[in-house]
Amino acid sequence: MPPTTNYNAIVIGTSQGGRFLPIAFAKAGCKVALIERGPMGGTCVNSGCTPTKTMVASARLAYQAKRGVDYGIHIGPISVDMQAIRKWKQSIVEGALRLKLNKNGYRGRCILSPGSLTRRR
Ligand SMILES: Cc1cc2nc3c(=O)[nH]c(=O)nc-3n(C[C@H](O)[C@H](O)[C@H](O)COP(=O)(O)OP(=O)(O)OC[C@H]3O[C@@H](n4cnc5c(N)ncnc54)[C@H](O)[C@@H]3O)c2cc1C
Repeated sequence: MPPTTNYNAIVIGTSQGGRFLPIAFAKAGCKVALIERGPMGGTCVNSGCTPTKTMVASARLAYQAKRGVDYGIHIGPISVDMQAIRKWKQSIVEGALRLKLNKNGYRGRCILSPGSLTRRR
């Protein structure tokens, strides 16, 4: 049987709220466990808001660069490097994923896998 650990609070999911709630609990003196079954950060950071907006920003820049000539700005031929765009997107996603929990006073445990929880009666 695996060892048992007791917590005052358990946060399930590391999306928007899951990034800040454990810190708030820890600051209030609670021992916290943070549980995530998928990628840290949830949808917004990994496949939603953040990656789409970085790619939209790249597309907008390409569009503006191509229109430069209309505004009297000549910057030569424009090309789109999808590999570089994905690399840039990934660097932004990874930056957002650095949760910095310890720096914010979180001293709980981060559990990254399916597990089981029991409630003490
Ligand atoms: C392409 C795209 C673009 C988007 N753009 C925007 C935008 O610009 N602005 C905006 O406001 N919203 C945007 N959204 C929506 C936004 O991403 C979601 O509304 C938001 O992420 C939902 O947050 P959530 O916490 O409800 O769920 P999630 O982000 O899915 O987080 C839930 C987390 O909990 C974990 N989890 C769930 N159940 C368990 C369990 N039993 N055990 C362990 N872990 C568990 C999951 O693995 C997940 O990490 C976009 C979405 C998509 C798909």
